[in-house]
Amino acid sequence: MFCSNCGEELPETAYFCLQCGVKSSKGVEAGVSYPWNWEKEVKKALSTAAKEVEKAFGTVKESINKTIKKEPITCPNCGEKNQSDSSFCYKCGKAVS
Ligand SMILES: [Zn+2]
Ligand SMILES: [Zn+2]
Repeated sequence: MFCSNCGEELPETAYFCLQCGVKSSKGVEAGVSYPWNWEKEVKKALSTAAKEVEKAFGTVKESINKTIKKEPITCPNCGEKNQSDSSFCYKCGKAVS
């Protein structure tokens, strides 16, 4: 008997694959249920991974936007226009970032 998912050779008495945990044909025949919700767990893991990728993309997009943005920063204190990469007003020293 071989696993239908990963091809691992299984003992005749195995209801589940020793390698990947998928139910064997013997397990299907016997009508055993999974000890845990395999499908649900896998889906959860996949959606978590998708969220991580999304987050990473968001961070990249954000830094690109910051690089592209070349608008001068107007000082909230004195109204002087500062370079877009300024952290402090060059005139009065007020933090502008
Ligand atoms: Zn397997
Ligand atoms: Zn200023």
